[in-house]
Amino acid sequence: MINILRERFGYDSFRIGQKEIIEDVLHGRNCVAMLPTGGGKSLCYQLPGYILDGSVLIISPLVSLMEDQVQQLKNRGEKRVVALNRFLSYREKKDVLHELASYRFIYASPEILQSPLLIEALKRINISLFVVDEAHCISQWGHDFRPDFLKLGLLRETLGNPPCLALTATATRQVIDDIVATLKLDRVKQHMYPLDRTNICLYVQYVHTLEGKMEALKQLIAILPKPGIVYVSSRQWAETLANMLHGDHRVGYYHGGMDGEQRLLIQQQFIYDQLDVICCTNAFGMGVDKRNVRFVIHFHLPTQPEAYWQEIGRAGRDGNESIAVLLYAPGDEQLGQAMIDAEFPTKEQIVYALNALRHGQKETGLTDVQQRLLLYWLEQMNAQGDVNILAKQLYSHVEQRKKEKMNKWIFMQRWVHEQTCRRRTMLSYFEQQPLPNERCCDRCGAHIYVNAPVKHIRQIQLRPWREELRAMFSIKVEDK
Ligand code: ADP
Ligand code: MG
Repeated sequence: MINILRERFGYDSFRIGQKEIIEDVLHGRNCVAMLPTGGGKSLCYQLPGYILDGSVLIISPLVSLMEDQVQQLKNRGEKRVVALNRFLSYREKKDVLHELASYRFIYASPEILQSPLLIEALKRINISLFVVDEAHCISQWGHDFRPDFLKLGLLRETLGNPPCLALTATATRQVIDDIVATLKLDRVKQHMYPLDRTNICLYVQYVHTLEGKMEALKQLIAILPKPGIVYVSSRQWAETLANMLHGDHRVGYYHGGMDGEQRLLIQQQFIYDQLDVICCTNAFGMGVDKRNVRFVIHFHLPTQPEAYWQEIGRAGRDGNESIAVLLYAPGDEQLGQAMIDAEFPTKEQIVYALNALRHGQKETGLTDVQQRLLLYWLEQMNAQGDVNILAKQLYSHVEQRKKEKMNKWIFMQRWVHEQTCRRRTMLSYFEQQPLPNERCCDRCGAHIYVNAPVKHIRQIQLRPWREELRAMFSIKVEDK
């Protein structure tokens, strides 16, 4: 094992958890593993790929992530690797399916795995390991964005229950249980490692107004070591801030409204240090292996602790000092509330959509994500009958989900105002403790401003939040 690590991967030793996970995988045990972002989860299935007979199937939620991983393997001289996604032409797909067994690593998106042709081809080959990367998609935002992930349990069954490795960097107990249940993992080994990232200092900066926030952002970008990521809650904000920062720095923006090629280009520019700052929505970053990100700034308060932790985790993968700054202004609460409201359909919208579906209309009035979720629930309920009764049942699902989201959101709001250690509070959400740290967080006395104290930031009169919101434009929930 250690020889393969050295010769194939060029590493001297295993990182925390890797050896234990790999040993279990080699014994054919079902595993759920939680390692922090940048902890080296990929190795946990890539190394076994060189020992096990047959192919390793890796289900990965994002095309960009998949391409990244495939490229890395190819750079290491691996030829027997393929990515199956919607970018493959018909001809390419046919060729790949024909020789599927010859691949050591088969990456696939959950959508493409709905293809009966592909499933048939997979059934014919020997799958030695069934990997679900970013497995929290099954539960956390999986319900919102990836109902396809929920079908992976069935797929695994169809393929004869190959041993499974589910990987995640952010999961609560409830999410882990969801993963185990959805993938139907029996006798599962759970490998839970500390999520704390001691090299990332946590910082919350309070400002009075939106303008104050923009000023603070400019200052931060001026003084912080780069490159870095600025997360915002909408597409429009990503563009607005990129334009604002443009000129003094090499800045790009990235969001779900751009076409695939554009996104890939910006991502590559950022990865290859051609950009100092990327302003983006949560569509950016999952699985992007860039080691030298020095800061992550949140311009808006994320609505879920999982999202916050994942996003800040993109800093400092090289282990060097990094910082996560959250900019908070009074009124941010309303924005989050509005985002949660916008995410879910009302009862009337559900009735409308059901009628539309019944009459075979394409236009249901729902967002893509809402519609996929609705269809999934309908399938689960095996539903027929009166539209109003169905709508009522569906709406109770919605209410339940909304309540869960609200709880997370309330946690985030409390966290911002909490007087004690940021890290301790945040990790308590994941039922973990912080590791010892000298540069922990602002509450523990860490500073970011050396020469430019916070009070120099121009402060402007507070506007009522409604106006603030209007100034901030229409609120839209971001997709992936
Ligand atoms: P994640 O857990 O976020 O999926 P990755 O698998 O992308 O992390 O790995 C993060 C980085 O760590 C990669 O650049 C990878 O090459 C590196 N890495 C993984 N395992 C080791 C190791 N044992 N020694 C040194 N570097 C490693
Ligand atoms: Mg990864």
